[in-house]
Amino acid sequence: MKALGYRCSVCGDEYDLDQATYTCPTDGGNLDVVLDYSAISAKVAPHNITASNDFSIWRYAPLLPVEDPGFVGTPLRSVGWTPMFSPGRLSQRLGLENLWLKDDGRNPTASFKDRASAVVVARAKEIGAETVATASTGNAGAALAGMAAAAGQPAVILAPKSAPPAKVAQLLIFGALVILVDGTYDQAFDLTLEASEAFGWYCRNTGYNPFTVEGKKTAAYEICEQLTLSLGHPNRKADQWRSPDSVFVSVGDGNIITGLHKGFSDLAALGWIDRLPRLIGVQSEGSAAVYNAFRAGEKTIRPVRADTIADSISVDLPRDGLRALRAVRDTGGEYLAVTDDEILAAIVTLGREAAVFAEPAGAAAYAGLAKAAAADLVRPEEQVVVLVTGSGLKDVRAAMQAAGQAVVIEPTLEALHRELKRVGKV
Ligand SMILES: *Cc1c(COP(=O)(O)O)cnc(C)c1O
Ligand SMILES: [Zn+2]
Repeated sequence: MKALGYRCSVCGDEYDLDQATYTCPTDGGNLDVVLDYSAISAKVAPHNITASNDFSIWRYAPLLPVEDPGFVGTPLRSVGWTPMFSPGRLSQRLGLENLWLKDDGRNPTASFKDRASAVVVARAKEIGAETVATASTGNAGAALAGMAAAAGQPAVILAPKSAPPAKVAQLLIFGALVILVDGTYDQAFDLTLEASEAFGWYCRNTGYNPFTVEGKKTAAYEICEQLTLSLGHPNRKADQWRSPDSVFVSVGDGNIITGLHKGFSDLAALGWIDRLPRLIGVQSEGSAAVYNAFRAGEKTIRPVRADTIADSISVDLPRDGLRALRAVRDTGGEYLAVTDDEILAAIVTLGREAAVFAEPAGAAAYAGLAKAAAADLVRPEEQVVVLVTGSGLKDVRAAMQAAGQAVVIEPTLEALHRELKRVGKV
């Protein structure tokens, strides 16, 4: 499905697809991709999608502004359609009757970022770009490197040298040209913009390339379709999907929450859902630029000096901050901030009570829900979705910090008995 064009999220000016590549030529604002909803409606309805045998983001191809990239059978085709389930013990613990976890750590490169990178690689193919490039705290790069490897496309990734080793290993294994910068993610971001311009690379940078949101929005589609598969159609219309009441998601640059907003808005515009869920953005207290602006009622984002264990949401100046504010204001949502200790505790709780292993940024959304539930910010009967955005295998050091070390004993029954006694198991 070809898009109608772009609309600037700041000035509202519209552009044809060939009039802009990244941001608004006038004010540098982020561009929203404008879809032709009546053309989509004329072609597909929810039941057509639900009948699809493609269990990936590509089942939503009629709602995506890129041509089908091919590469059938490769990891590029297995992005998305991640499990969403109701974790019984966790629901009880929080006193919530309708809690859902969606585990996006189960993507090919183990984070939500695969959704964006798959669509950007499809777009690169469509416009004949030779090399794709991105700045990344780790996951966006791993996703682009992985998707580019699937498509046989050269990739260049710039990441801060502090990125967790597992993420750097992924970049190297997928064969990208990996450059670690002795600086912050924000510095890597600016350098990638300059380098893309200088060397003619197609730049995937988050909150810069308009197509990342078009990939990330597929999570919203899945939430509504999967909720409907679990609970049945809403009463009013048989060929409509359900929308949850609220969705909790961690926020760094603000591109994921913007993608969710776009996805739910697409479905509402098509009449496939009745209303948008409240979007609840969760930031780390150590990297809370969007939260600060929301709380102060400001229209601009002031940079912070980010310092948090959740490296994937450690951002001085969120590159999609304004749209991230819009997503929450438009949906009657909320911004919350959580401490590193709350994030570490959330990693442990998700593992023990729901069998989901999350990296710190992936667990932050749950930490936010725990806080919201304790403060009665969610109703017990609400349909609540928590997005887990990345796998715990991405950052084993943080996991060990959360879980503690394992004991070492002599390999004898006697030593084992002593240890079991110490921990009260015999
Ligand atoms: C990138 C990322 C986020 C935050 O997404 P933004 O678009 O930067 O707000 C959250 N969790 C994980 C695991 C990520 O990789
Ligand atoms: Zn503009």
